[in-house]
Amino acid sequence: MIGNVQSFHTPVDPSVKRQMQESVFRLMTAIAYRTSQDPRIWCEEVRGAEGGREYSWSDFRGHSVYLLDLYISLQFDVACETQLLALRSLLLNQISSPQPFRTNATWWQDVYLPTAVDAFTCGFTSSKLEDFDFVSHDLRENFNTDAFKQKLWYLIGNYLNSIYKQRENNNRRLDFDSGLYIPFLDKYTGGDYTVTNQMRVGFPTYLGRSIWFLFHAMGQRIADSSCTDQAMLDDLFERSRIWLTFFATLHPCPFCREHFLSHVSVNDRFASDPLNNEAIRYYPIEHLLLGGVEGTLAGKVSAIKSSDKNSLAIFFWKLHNAVTSSVEMGCSCFTEEIEDKDPYNCVFDPTNTTQIRYPRMGRVFPVTKRFEFILTTNHNYTLFDDSRSQLETSIKKITSIDNLTLRIELWKYWNNGTKISETSQNQVTELTTEIEKMTNSFLQLGILQQQYSHNETLSCAKLTEQLSALKSRDNITTPDPTKIARLSDKCAKYLTDSACNKQYPLPPTPSPTPTVNSTQDNIQQSVSNQLSSNLFLLVSLIILLSYLY
Ligand SMILES: Cc1cc2nc3c(=O)[nH]c(=O)nc-3n(C[C@H](O)[C@H](O)[C@H](O)COP(=O)(O)OP(=O)(O)OC[C@H]3O[C@@H](n4cnc5c(N)ncnc54)[C@H](O)[C@@H]3O)c2cc1C
Repeated sequence: MIGNVQSFHTPVDPSVKRQMQESVFRLMTAIAYRTSQDPRIWCEEVRGAEGGREYSWSDFRGHSVYLLDLYISLQFDVACETQLLALRSLLLNQISSPQPFRTNATWWQDVYLPTAVDAFTCGFTSSKLEDFDFVSHDLRENFNTDAFKQKLWYLIGNYLNSIYKQRENNNRRLDFDSGLYIPFLDKYTGGDYTVTNQMRVGFPTYLGRSIWFLFHAMGQRIADSSCTDQAMLDDLFERSRIWLTFFATLHPCPFCREHFLSHVSVNDRFASDPLNNEAIRYYPIEHLLLGGVEGTLAGKVSAIKSSDKNSLAIFFWKLHNAVTSSVEMGCSCFTEEIEDKDPYNCVFDPTNTTQIRYPRMGRVFPVTKRFEFILTTNHNYTLFDDSRSQLETSIKKITSIDNLTLRIELWKYWNNGTKISETSQNQVTELTTEIEKMTNSFLQLGILQQQYSHNETLSCAKLTEQLSALKSRDNITTPDPTKIARLSDKCAKYLTDSACNKQYPLPPTPSPTPTVNSTQDNIQQSVSNQLSSNLFLLVSLIILLSYLY
C-alpha cells in the first residue's frame, strides 16, 4: 500500500537521464511522423485543408540537429554519444525530404526508426515479458528474444503503465498498442496505425508532458552549470533560441501548435474582442511581459540570454504556466483551488463579463493545490508549503497591481498599436520589478533543481569542445521568429473555439430583448410618434387651407 502511494507520480526510473531519453525520442519521432504524412499541411486540427500550415521537412531536420547538438554537448547521455552522432549525421545528410510514409515507408521504418531507437536506449540491456505487469499486445510476439521490441518497450512502457495514460479520453484508456504512439512500427508489429494516420503522437497527456520535461531539464542543465567562458555561453544560448524557434512551428499536436503560434506566443493579439481573449482572461502577467512589452515570439525568446544562466529555465517556467492557464487539462479551476486562500485561489464569476481579478488563476506552478502531492516526494510537505509562504508577498503585490484596465490597454497596443497611457506604463514598470523579485524568490526555493537537475556534473571543457565540433549545418536555414507567418484566412472556417473558452464562456452580450418596462416605453414612444405625426398633418392642413382662402 505504501509502495502504491509513493509511486503515484513517480516514474519507474525517475532519473533525468532516463526521462530525457524517453522525452527526446518521443518528440523527435512524433515530429518525424507529422513530416512523413501526406498531405502534411494543417488548418489547426484539419489535415490537408487548403491554406494550412506545413510540417516541413527542412524545419524538422533543423530542429533535430539543433536539439541533438544541445543534448549531446550538455552531456545528458554521454554513453550514447556515438549513436546520437549517427542519428545527427543521418538527418544532416538527408537534405531532401524522403517520400511520404504511405508512398514508400523504407527510409522511415528501416533507417530512421532503428537509428533513433539506438540513440535513446543506451544503458538498457534486456528484458523479458515476465518483468512487467503487461507488455503491449503488438510487441508480445517473440518479445523475449527480440532486442528491438524490448527497446521499444523501454521507450514507451512507462507511459502506457502510468496514471497519465489513464487521463486520455474515456475511449482511449484501455488500449495499449505501442504502435499507437511510436510511429513507423507497422512492419514490426503487423499493425497499420502509421499508414492509416491513427497515431496519438500529439496527445497532451503523452507528448505534452514529455516536451515539458525536456524543456525544463534542458533549462536546468544550463542553469546548474558552472561554466564561465562567455563566447561559449553566447553560442549555447543562441542555439537554444534557434532550437525553440524551430520547435514553435513543429509541435506535433496540430491544435497545440496553432494555439501556441496564434495565441500564446503573441499574447493573443489577433483576437477580435478586447475582453474575450486569452491575454486578458488567462495568461499570467509575467508571460504577457516576458521579454518586455513587445508581446511577440521574438520578444519573448529574447529573454533567453547568456548574461543570465537561469534565463532558459525561467522562460520555460513562465511559458508552461501560461500554456497551463489556457489548455483543456490545465485551465479548469479545481474545487480545492476555488476554496483555497488568497492569492492562490481560482476566482471566476461566470455570470459576469468582467471579473474581480485578472487572470482568474495566478501563476499555477508551484503554488496551486494541484501540485501539493507532486512536490512532496518525501511526504513531508515542505517543498509545497515553503513555496507558498515564500512567494506569497510578491504574488500578492503583483496581483494588486495587475488589473483589467491595464490588460485591455496592453492588448490594444498588441492588437493595433494603440498608445499605452502613462499610468499603465508606470504599472508595467512596477510589475516588472515585482516579477523580478518573485522570480528570484522562486529560484531560491530550489524547486527546479529538485525536479529537473541531472545527477552527473557537466564538464565545461567538454561542452566547449562539443559545441565547436558540432557546427556542420548543411542546408539548414536559421529560422527567424519575426517571419513566422500568420495562419492563412483560408483556414478560418476550420478553427474551433478553445476548450477553455467552452468551459468558461463569457455571458452573451446583452441583446435588446425588450423587458416589460422597455416594452411600455416602446409603446409610449410609438404612441407619441403617432401623435406628433398627426399634429404635423393637422398644422400642414391649416396652413394649406389658409393659403387657399
Ligand atoms: C508548447 C506546448 C503547447 C501546448 N499546447 C497545448 C494545447 O494547446 N492544448 C492542450 O490540450 N495541451 C497543450 N499542451 C500540453 C499541456 O501543456 C500539458 O502537457 C497536458 O495537458 C498534460 O498536462 P498535465 O496536467 O499532465 O501536466 P503538464 O502541464 O504536462 O506538466 C507536467 C509536470 O510539469 C511540472 N510543471 C508544471 N508546471 C510547471 C512549470 N510552470 N514549471 C516547471 N514545472 C512545471 C509538474 O510537475 C507537472 O506535473 C502543450 C504542451 C506544450 C509543451
